[in-house]
Amino acid sequence: MPQIPQDIFMDGIKELIQLDKGWVPNGEGKSLYIRPFMIADEASLGVKASNSYKFIVITSPTSNYYAGAISVKIEDDFSRAASGGIGAAKAAANYAASLYPAQNAQKQGYNQLIWTDASEHKYIEESGTMNIMFMVNGKLITPSVVSDTILKGVTRDSIIQLARKWNIEVEERKIPVAELIDALHKGEVEEAFGMGTAATIVPIHTIGHKNEKYTLTDASNWTFSNRAKEYLEGLKRGHIEDEFNWIEKV
Ligand SMILES: *Cc1c(COP(=O)(O)O)cnc(C)c1O
Repeated sequence: MPQIPQDIFMDGIKELIQLDKGWVPNGEGKSLYIRPFMIADEASLGVKASNSYKFIVITSPTSNYYAGAISVKIEDDFSRAASGGIGAAKAAANYAASLYPAQNAQKQGYNQLIWTDASEHKYIEESGTMNIMFMVNGKLITPSVVSDTILKGVTRDSIIQLARKWNIEVEERKIPVAELIDALHKGEVEEAFGMGTAATIVPIHTIGHKNEKYTLTDASNWTFSNRAKEYLEGLKRGHIEDEFNWIEKV
């Protein structure tokens, strides 16, 4: 697929926002979701890379992706992405394999899954379509994106930068499921949350593993994730000075 030059990408988005600005909703947690994407549009049947693509941007008014804290199940059977595959890319194809196991989890009363590595199901990777972090004994722990099975989300990266600015120790590394379960048993998991552009930060109140369910404390009292969420929301609404240069004014 061709790379879209940055100016075409940004000018296209800005032009569309001018056209669609009447659709920007008011209110907390509400926004105009902007979704750029590229699809093959060559008129041919056959399995091969296309010679022709279309770059498209669409928008939609949205409100909170998840209404409150969610419950998730650690998946130890199905996989979202395997090493050597395309899990690190924001490719629509990645969602295909995730839908059936997510639906199964929903039938069991969960909102979403925690994905584990496809070869052994021993390490934590992501939660649903979000990156994932845990606050354990005052340390922020998140799966390393050195793995080609984890998407390098911009929200994840922003939260790590915020944590460092606030002098919170951050560990990007492999997180064994066994280590998380042990910390849950000991009551050391202070916060658990998913993150992505659409969802911002979503607290996790329950983690299911095998036949056990672990419940965390009331997420409204979590210091780090609430602070990071307020910061990101404040920044987007222009209430906080943009010291990282993350904001593009339109
Ligand atoms: C979109 C997405 C994320 C979050 O990425 P952001 O850049 O923060 O929006 C994380 N994991 C998966 C699988 C995703 O599709």
